[in-house]
Formats: sequence, C-alpha cells, structure tokens
Amino acid sequence: MKDKVSAIQKEELLKQYFGHSAFRPGQEALIDALTGGRDVLGVMPTGAGKSVCYQIPALLLPGITLVVSPLISLMKDQVASLKQVGVAAAYINSSLSYPQYLEVLRRARRGAYKIIYVAPERLSTEGFLAFAQEVELSLLAVDEAHCVSQWGQDFRPSYLKIAEFCKTLPKRPPIGAFTATATDEVKRDIIKLLDLREPLELTTGFDRPNLFFSVETPKSKAVWLHSFLAVRREQSGIVYCATRKNVEKVCEDLQERGFEATRYHAGLEDAERRANQEDFLYDRARVMVATNAFGMGIDKSNVSFVVHYNMPKNIESYYQEAGRAGRDGAKAECVLLYAPSDVHTAKYMIEHSEDNEELSEEERKLIRKRDLERLIRMAGYGKTPDCLRRYILRYFGEQAPVHCGNCGNCCGEMERVDITTEAQKILSGVTRVERKYFHSLGITMVVHMLVGSKEQRIYDLGLDTLPTYGALHGLERSTVRRYIDCLIEQGFLRQTEEEHPVLCTTERAKDVLFHGETVVYVGKKQKKPEKKETPADLAADRGLYAALSALRATLARQESVPAYVVFTNATLLDMAAKQPRTTDELLAVNGVGSRKAERYGAQFLRCIQSWRETDR
Ligand code: ADP
Ligand code: ZN
Repeated sequence: MKDKVSAIQKEELLKQYFGHSAFRPGQEALIDALTGGRDVLGVMPTGAGKSVCYQIPALLLPGITLVVSPLISLMKDQVASLKQVGVAAAYINSSLSYPQYLEVLRRARRGAYKIIYVAPERLSTEGFLAFAQEVELSLLAVDEAHCVSQWGQDFRPSYLKIAEFCKTLPKRPPIGAFTATATDEVKRDIIKLLDLREPLELTTGFDRPNLFFSVETPKSKAVWLHSFLAVRREQSGIVYCATRKNVEKVCEDLQERGFEATRYHAGLEDAERRANQEDFLYDRARVMVATNAFGMGIDKSNVSFVVHYNMPKNIESYYQEAGRAGRDGAKAECVLLYAPSDVHTAKYMIEHSEDNEELSEEERKLIRKRDLERLIRMAGYGKTPDCLRRYILRYFGEQAPVHCGNCGNCCGEMERVDITTEAQKILSGVTRVERKYFHSLGITMVVHMLVGSKEQRIYDLGLDTLPTYGALHGLERSTVRRYIDCLIEQGFLRQTEEEHPVLCTTERAKDVLFHGETVVYVGKKQKKPEKKETPADLAADRGLYAALSALRATLARQESVPAYVVFTNATLLDMAAKQPRTTDELLAVNGVGSRKAERYGAQFLRCIQSWRETDR
C-alpha cells in the first residue's frame, strides 16, 4: 500500500513540478532506491534526465538534499530552474560573498530549502561541517560523479573529500552518484572513492534518438561551416575546436561574416569567459566557438547543433560534447568535420599532454597507451561507412540495429568506387619510394609525389625522377589521401608508430600489385550542407512557434533568466502542435507543470488565441 502511495506521489510530483507525464527509463528505479534509503550509481547519457532522479526524492524526503556539483554556472541555472517551478533551493559556492553565504546557511537552518547545491571544496570547510551537523540531511547527490576518478580528464581532487565529509555526519544519508561516463574503471572508482554501500547500479541506454549524427569531409571546413550556419540563423549551437588558436580563428572568421558568434577557451580572462558564456546562454550570441573547456555542466537545453571542427581524442569526449545538443528532447544535429590530419594533431596532443603529477611513470605510460587506442576508435568513427549511431552505441557496449535510419550514413548516399587502378599506382609509388630511400615518407609527401606536385621539396628529394611521379595527376589531393586511408584500413598499407609516421606497404600489397585483387572504396558522396526540415521549421513556418518563442524571450528578459528556463524548445514545439485553449489543455503540454502554468499560462494562452485569430 505504501509503495502504491509513493508511486502516485512520484508521478504527481513529476507532472506538477516538472510538467512531464511519464518517467524515462531508469528514473523511477533510481528514485525508489534513494527514497528507500539505498545508495545508487546512475549512469545515463547527457540529457537523459539525471536531475529529477535526485530532485524528486528531495521533495519526498523530510530534510535537506545536498547536491555536490563541480560547476558554478550549472548551479546557478539549476537553482533558477527549480525556483521557477516552485522548489525552494539555493546554492553555495565561491560566487557568493561571505555575508550571502552566512545568510544561506541561516535560512537553511530554519528549513527554508529542500535542495542546496554545493561546490565540493566547501565540504571540508569548518563552517559548513558545523552546519551539516546541525541540520537533517536526507540525501547527498553527487553530480558528475566521474570527477572523483583519476581515469577521466575531469578529475577533481576535492571530490575525494566527499566520502570523508559523509563520515563526519551524525547520520549518513543515502548517496546518489550520477554520471554520463560508463567505463568500468570509472564506475569502480566512483563506488570505491565515494564509498557507496551496495548501491543500485543502473546504466540506461545511451541512445539519444533525437540526435542526428553525421560526418563530413569537406575540402574547406571554413566554407562548409559558413553554408551550414547560413541556413540555421535562427538556431543556437556550439562549434568545438581542438585548440585555442583554432577557436580564435574560426570565431573571428564567423564574426567577420556577420554571424553572431562568441568564443570560450581556458586562455581567456575569467571575466570574458563568463560574459561570453552568458551571451550564449541568453541567446545574445547564437554560436559558441569553444575548446572542450566549454561544456561540462552546460545546461542550455536549446542547443540545436554541435559541430566538431576538429576531431576529439575519444568517443567518450565526442559523445559527451555532441550530447549537449538537443537536451530538451527536440531534434538536433551533431556533425563531425573529419580530416585525417586531425588524427595526427590529436595524437600529438596525447603524446605531449601535461603530466598528471599524482601519477607514477608506469601509470602515465598506461594511460597514454590507452588514450592512443581510444583515438584509433575515434578516427574509425570518422571513416566508417556504416551506421554512426551503431558505431557509438557498440563502443559503449550496447546492442544496436544495423541501420538506425537517422544518421548521415544511413540516410546519405554512399559511393562505391572500384579504385583498383589507383590503388596499384599508389602501392607501386610507395614501393618505389621505399626502394629508393631504404625507408619511406609520410603520407603528405607521397600524395604530393603521386599528383605530381611542383613543390620545392619534391625536387629536393628527387621524387620527380620516380616513374610514379604524377601517376595520379588530375586527382584532388584530398581524394588521393582518402584512397590511401582506405588502403591503410584494408591492410595494404600501414603507418609506422614513430613521431613522424611514414607510409609502408604490407605483405598484402602484393595481392593488389601482382595477383589481381581488387580494391573498392566505400565512402560518402561529398555534398553541400543542406538544411533538414525539423519540426521547429514546420511550426515556425506557421508562425505560432515564432510568436511563442518571442513571448518566451520577453518573459526571460523581464526575469533575467535564460529563455530555456521559462520553457524549453521542446515544450514550445509541443505547445505549437497542441495549441491549447484552456489551462487544462496547457497542462497536457510536455514540460508544463502547475507552477509554470500558473505563472505563464495566461500569457501563452493569449498568445495562441491571438495567433489563431489573426495569423491563420
Ligand atoms: P542530464 O542531467 O541527465 O544531462 P537533465 O536532468 O538536465 O539531464 O534533463 C535533460 C532534459 O530532459 C531536461 O530538459 C528535462 O526537463 C527533460 N526531462 C527529464 N526527465 C524527463 C521526463 N521524464 N520526461 C520528459 N522530459 C524529461
Ligand atoms: Zn544510422
């Protein structure tokens, strides 16, 4: 009986506060465990909905729920969102002045808050420890729990203090650890280092059905990006670059061309970083050009695309960064701009990465080796002709259908070209280089030689005297390069492991050169970026979505919150589709809870009403 009551309660809370009518996979089990006093480890992809897994228990349990979170900007927005829906919440971090901090503690002692977000560093300060002794803590939620593990790139030493903090409490509350990182090492670390006790471990599916994945190999990334953005002027998105220099370059270029772009990387002054991030969150800048320093905890839910200008170091990073698109559940695009040279840049960065002082030489070597293996899998994503979603899901150990029907490779046209003749020329070119110099050359020089380039280095090396000089005259360099990649992949060529890798033939090259083996290149047809019709476009065409989103912008400005804190894009889309006339109908829109209906309902209903009268 008791279970039944709480089942009804949970769902009511989900609807009433958050406006959702059903739980997503995994949420209910995690909530039940936490409210029942059991520790949990919830592994869910970004955007799956981890927050409600501790926010609903927080509402059901009698005392205060502490949420440990690594990022200040995230806390502020989370608390703003909670206040919007009527949950008493506060945050404690370095952005508060000392008097403000004391005020939060004072009010918390009087029971003013159900949820308090706190930066991990706080947990070991005297004042906070004393506070924690006095009040009733019902739950400790640890967001981005992978930060406790040294295996990840987000390691935060202060996370190691969480377990100690719990030991000082008069009564240990259940601990809920949440992360999007699913590797076994990290999961084991979290359990051990946070001292979770027989936790319910729950890993939900990693698929994000609303994301459309694609890989593009344009001749010029800059030109590609211009045409991509030109047809998405109304949308907001992130462009990730590998280096600070690239961020500067790309951002400047976009601004010169009239795009509302801003930038973010670790080399900027704090003040500029903060200002740029706010510009993006508040939709004053539509495009954020950034290094991977931008992101963890970015809770902007109306990101419609994430373009990777350069390839990240591994699929984990890629999926996490790309996953910042479409967090509200609306359709969104994730594009990787693949260039083979990015693989080398990434390799270089792994080999010259700053050493983590806390690791031994042995551990460092191990980590490098593992990082290089992961890089190869990432590069594989850029080259695979198969379903991209399946490639990612299988990487995370999940089953997936052969075709998802919703990625660039499933939808795009593939070309299959018999390149046996070209392959023979390439392989014999490499063989001749090997013979002439007793060692080989890097890919770039081989390409130059094959297309008959007139670069000085060619003459210096005497490559113009080889019979294969200019053998592929007339082909684009990028095409020759793709064919070489294809030959490497199919095992006819290989690259050495040195710092400056050179190209060598393998035993199997003979099969193509002398035994009639054919080579087929399977790749995507090169095409211009085109705009996909999203439900937003359809709704926008009809004008209602635009009207709703203008109203949202006005309200957001009045209240100084980002637009998505009022309603997410997904909610506006649903509203535009359902066109509610009454408050009851409005409550049936996904993302409209009773508090928001009360607060904004009248204005949105009026907006829909007047659209109905005039615009149709
Ligand atoms: P995470 O922390 O896992 O990245 P969030 O907690 O920020 O994800 O949730 C992502 C989005 O999913 C939010 O816009 C949230 O409102 C929405 N969401 C969460 N749970 C549900 C649900 N049960 N039904 C519909 N939308 C949901
Ligand atoms: Zn697919």
